[in-house]
Amino acid sequence: MNDKVRGIILKQSDYRDSSVLLTVLTREYGRISLIAQGARKPTSKNARSLMPYTETEFNFDYKENKTIFRMRSVSTIAFYRRLYEDLDASLASALLCEVTDQLTAEDQDHQQTEFFYDLLQEALKMLGEGKRTDIVTAVFLANVLEHNGMGPAVDACVLCEKPEAYSISPEDGGFLCRDCAEKAGVRPYSIQELRQFRLINKASLTHYDILADRIEDAGEDIELLVRFFTLHGGIDLRSYELYKRMRIVEPQGVK
Ligand SMILES: [Zn+2]
Repeated sequence: MNDKVRGIILKQSDYRDSSVLLTVLTREYGRISLIAQGARKPTSKNARSLMPYTETEFNFDYKENKTIFRMRSVSTIAFYRRLYEDLDASLASALLCEVTDQLTAEDQDHQQTEFFYDLLQEALKMLGEGKRTDIVTAVFLANVLEHNGMGPAVDACVLCEKPEAYSISPEDGGFLCRDCAEKAGVRPYSIQELRQFRLINKASLTHYDILADRIEDAGEDIELLVRFFTLHGGIDLRSYELYKRMRIVEPQGVK
């Protein structure tokens, strides 16, 4: 296999000797594992191209029935310094890459791979440019839930379909009307909270400016969306706890 392949590095870990093991999302092969030999040697020129959250172009030896491949040459396509220097952006990137890692696989259906590649590429670029991590993260999570059939119902009560919003219930899968919320013993949400959650679930990253203008903080929305992943996808996002803790210590806008 001599063709050049592009990929976004989702994570990196140390491997035998001075090598690293990379998890990389590609359009052609889905999510694959690659070994970059000698990458931890002080003389390695590839360190930057192998960093998580970086988009790279590389050659590798593809063999059917193998699960780990050897990387041969690599060069950087997109590298965002901010994703390593700004803690907020760094932890958000880790969360986005964890979601992608969990919901993609090798040789997967093309449509899922393309969806994640385009969304993650754009989200990392925006975080790299210093866009607000709460907005980018919330829209990313909402888009992924929607694409995977787990999206919150935000047009009517999820239980009785009455076009009324009074509360949000991740357990039930979306908005609840007053009657259903009271029966379920779920607390009411303010009109602002309901509108904001709906807006995020209807938006794409191209709506960033509108969202940044209207939303003061999307931390609660992210909390709710993460619960949808847990409850409806059985997906436990470990990097979320760190991101959340950092945002409590250092809220958006205060820096
Ligand atoms: Zn109802």
